[in-house]
Amino acid sequence: MNRIYNFSAGPSTLPLEVLETAAKEMTDYHGFGLSVMEMSHRSNAYSDIQDEAESLLRKLLHIPENYQVLFLQGGASTQFAMVPLNLMNKNNTADFLITGNWADKAQQEAQRFGEARVVASSKDKTYSYIPQTSSDDFNSAADYVHICTNNTIYGTRFTPENLPDVGNLDLVADMSSNILSEVYDIEKFALVYAGAQKNMGPAGVTVVIIRDDLIGNAMDITPTMLDYQTHSKAGSMYNTPPCYNIYICKLVFEWLDRLGGVQAIEKINKHKSQKLYDYIDNSGFYRGTAEKEDRSLMNVPFICKKDELNAEFIKQAKQQGLENLKGHRAVGGMRASIYNSMPQEGIDSLISFMQEFAKNNA
Ligand SMILES: *Cc1c(COP(=O)(O)O)cnc(C)c1O
Repeated sequence: MNRIYNFSAGPSTLPLEVLETAAKEMTDYHGFGLSVMEMSHRSNAYSDIQDEAESLLRKLLHIPENYQVLFLQGGASTQFAMVPLNLMNKNNTADFLITGNWADKAQQEAQRFGEARVVASSKDKTYSYIPQTSSDDFNSAADYVHICTNNTIYGTRFTPENLPDVGNLDLVADMSSNILSEVYDIEKFALVYAGAQKNMGPAGVTVVIIRDDLIGNAMDITPTMLDYQTHSKAGSMYNTPPCYNIYICKLVFEWLDRLGGVQAIEKINKHKSQKLYDYIDNSGFYRGTAEKEDRSLMNVPFICKKDELNAEFIKQAKQQGLENLKGHRAVGGMRASIYNSMPQEGIDSLISFMQEFAKNNA
């Protein structure tokens, strides 16, 4: 077997153990004589998988009883519309913090359905920092406040300690690229959503965690499939769910649970990212592009101080089995996405290569 270290921002690397289990169970799942992707979603065998996925996620994130977990389709991008359609229903206005492309897209989509007010933005400095706000900055009539907890492209994050103080307003978070990476208190949020393909499993399933009282108030124009109530009433089986993807997520949740849960992976993630950031900061050769205090644990964008070397870095890294390190075109340079499933050895190999490359190009 010859596996690369895959630093892709998404879809991203998965735990080898999970892939091996999936391979073993591919043609005959637990003696049922068929693959999970061939099962009726109404079968007991499948509903056990989905129930288990939900209960593991509840355990891992300490999701309170009064929140529902929905497994939906359409990616995080569909939530950009689904959230306003369901939540912008009292005063038809919501507040947004624009900390990157995804937050910006969420605000633009919400604008189609009501007033989507921009409270603060870090666009002035290529989204390299998290703007500070106080509770006075928010509209007390806002139906919700939307943030993106981890900015995948720019490598910044709202730390759990530094979430915006929105007073009594409902906070909604796009957690696509850092769900399950460190401990956030779900009760601080009214709704959390995340596409699976960064930290949970394959693309094609989107997890929504929503407080009960927010369900059942969608705008009249809301299509059936975009109404949270549709999926809540049907246990995420109003139509055929992405069964196989949910099954893989279940395997990932089991893997994380065996590791010791989110608290344990937070420690590992902090160690992994700190090692890489420390190397970058002390190298004299590379530079991190995000402000130190706002740095992401999951996405580490950096550049060679000599700009002309970036392309060569990416090319040579690939030859060493360190792949998908090219930064997003909005930032340039490199980005190492080091989600939960990226092992410490991947980081160590990357740092060794960086040392070598710096020496050869000093
Ligand atoms: C990847 C990503 C998205 C887009 O997700 P899709 O599932 O492709 O729609 C949205 N928000 C964030 C923060 C992301 O990282």
